Amino acid sequence: MAKTIITASLTGAVTPKSKCPALPVTPREIAEDAKKVVAAGASVLHLHMRDDEGRGTMDPAKFRETVHILREEGVDAILNLTTSGELGVSDERRMEHIIELKPEMATYDAGTLNAGDGIFENSLDFLAKLGKCMIENNIKPEIEVMDFGMINTAKWFMKQGSVLAPVHWDFVLSYGVSGCPATPKNLCHMLDEIPEGSTWTAFGVGNAHMPILYTTLALGGNLRVGLEDCIWYSKGVPATNVSLVERAAHCIREYGNEVATVAEARQILGLAK
Ligand code: ZN
Repeated sequence: MAKTIITASLTGAVTPKSKCPALPVTPREIAEDAKKVVAAGASVLHLHMRDDEGRGTMDPAKFRETVHILREEGVDAILNLTTSGELGVSDERRMEHIIELKPEMATYDAGTLNAGDGIFENSLDFLAKLGKCMIENNIKPEIEVMDFGMINTAKWFMKQGSVLAPVHWDFVLSYGVSGCPATPKNLCHMLDEIPEGSTWTAFGVGNAHMPILYTTLALGGNLRVGLEDCIWYSKGVPATNVSLVERAAHCIREYGNEVATVAEARQILGLAK
C-alpha cells in the first residue's frame, strides 16, 4: 500500500501568537508540539524559530536549544530546518545553524519574490553557497517552489552540481503576494517540470489548504500541514498543530494509503543510512 509522508510545519516566521494562541514559539513549546505531532503521524518536522519578542529569527541559539531538547528527549523524526526564517539577514546567518546542527534536511528556496512583509530574497549567489553547504554537511535540500520559474533555477543548479539530485520538492502554493495561485491545474503543471525520480510534497497557504491537500493525495504526493501554513481548522474553528496532523493522517487513511512511519519516510526520501 502506498505510503504518504506528513510534514508538520509547527511555527513559521510570520503569524503572531496574538492571532493564534496555540502557536508554539519558545524552544520548549516547539519541542512539546513536536512530540505530539510525531505521535499523531508526522515524520518530518519543519522548524522555524522565534526571538523573545515572538518575531521570526535565524538566531542559531534558538535552533540549538530546540534541537537539543528534541535529541535529548529522544524524539525520532526527520528534522527539516528552515534557512529562511528572517528577512534581510546575511547569507552566513541563514546557514550557521545547519552547519552546526546538521539536520537531515533543510529548506532551499529556489528564487526571490514578494512576500507580504518585504522582499523574500534568494539570490543566485546565495543559492550556490547554500547548495554547496548542504553537500558538505550531508543535508538533503527540500527545494521550496513558490512559482514556476523556481523549478528551472533548481534544475540549473543541479546541472551545475551545486544541488545533488534526487531532491525533494515542496510546492508552496498561494504564498505571499506573488506566489503561484493554489489550483490543482497549477500543481499538475509544476509536476510536469520536475525530474523523474523526484519525491514531492505540496500544500496551499490559508484557504487553499484543503483543496491542495486532496489534490496532492490524488496525485501521489506527500502532505504538509501545520500552523505555519494555516491557522484555521475550518471556518471560525482555530486549528492546532495536532488537529491538523490528525486530520491529514485521517485523510491519508480514508484515501486508501498508509501514513509513512519515520523509518519509511527516511527510505522514501533517501535518508536511510
Ligand atoms: Zn517554513
